[in-house]
Amino acid sequence: MPEGHTIHRLAAALTARLGGHEVRASSPQGRFAEEAAVIDGARVRRVSAHGKHLFVEYAGRGAPVVHVHLGLGGRVVVGDTAAPAPRGAIRLRLETADAFADVRAPTVCELIDPARQRALIARLGPDLLARSPDPATARRRVSRSRVAIGALLLDQKLFAGVGNAYRSELLFRCGFSPWMPGSEVGADGFDRLWEEARRLLADGRRTGRVATVDRADLPRGQRRSAGRHLPPEDEASGSAVARARARETYVYKRADLPCRRCGSVVRTALQAGRDVYWCPTCQPGPADPSSARTDGAVG
Ligand SMILES: [Zn+2]
Repeated sequence: MPEGHTIHRLAAALTARLGGHEVRASSPQGRFAEEAAVIDGARVRRVSAHGKHLFVEYAGRGAPVVHVHLGLGGRVVVGDTAAPAPRGAIRLRLETADAFADVRAPTVCELIDPARQRALIARLGPDLLARSPDPATARRRVSRSRVAIGALLLDQKLFAGVGNAYRSELLFRCGFSPWMPGSEVGADGFDRLWEEARRLLADGRRTGRVATVDRADLPRGQRRSAGRHLPPEDEASGSAVARARARETYVYKRADLPCRRCGSVVRTALQAGRDVYWCPTCQPGPADPSSARTDGAVG
């Protein structure tokens, strides 16, 4: 699932290509045909993001908004040419004379009004990539919760934008077991997690990569080139790139490999429906995943 940094990059890329233009809208697949007809040819004002939600906003008071959530398997393909003949299931295609964006397999793609957009954003937690997100609600709810912190971090009402890769990396960097109840994290611990989440997501937005390892923790030979050869994750994929990415994290996707700091074997287990990764030595806490509550939070 794309995390908040990817959605913010996408919003910026789409604003650069579509903002200020009268944009053709269509639904080659047909499932968004009626809605696409409503916005076809309208002027796009900008494309914005809140957490993992994407909004295509149109010019004019009360103009409709396209709300997209990509979920686990959706994606947006952006091109800098005239749109090619549609292939496969394209829910929504937006195009100008020299650029296009295809929304494929989203969990949500709907036309809403600005009031509904505001209500939706209000229901989500503060976006960690906003200028100064307010941590008060998340701090209070985490401090009172018996739910494991690894599950709470995926709750978009608390930490909008944090996804599965950042969850594991944040917990490692702050030294918390994913299975520690929120109420045991403490006020200082919460503040560390919050600031670290903001910093890592901002790095991700800048570089397009989840690269969380401090230079000092990389093997000597990798320090100079760390990550520089890798393209942003929204521009490339494939198993070689995926393997290279595992060299950019402390624990995420590193099950059974030695911890970069202490050499213990990195563990993985299912938590809140997704694989979480942790080092049992660097992240002491409840040892038995089956004893911890993980309900109440879904990414
Ligand atoms: Zn370790």
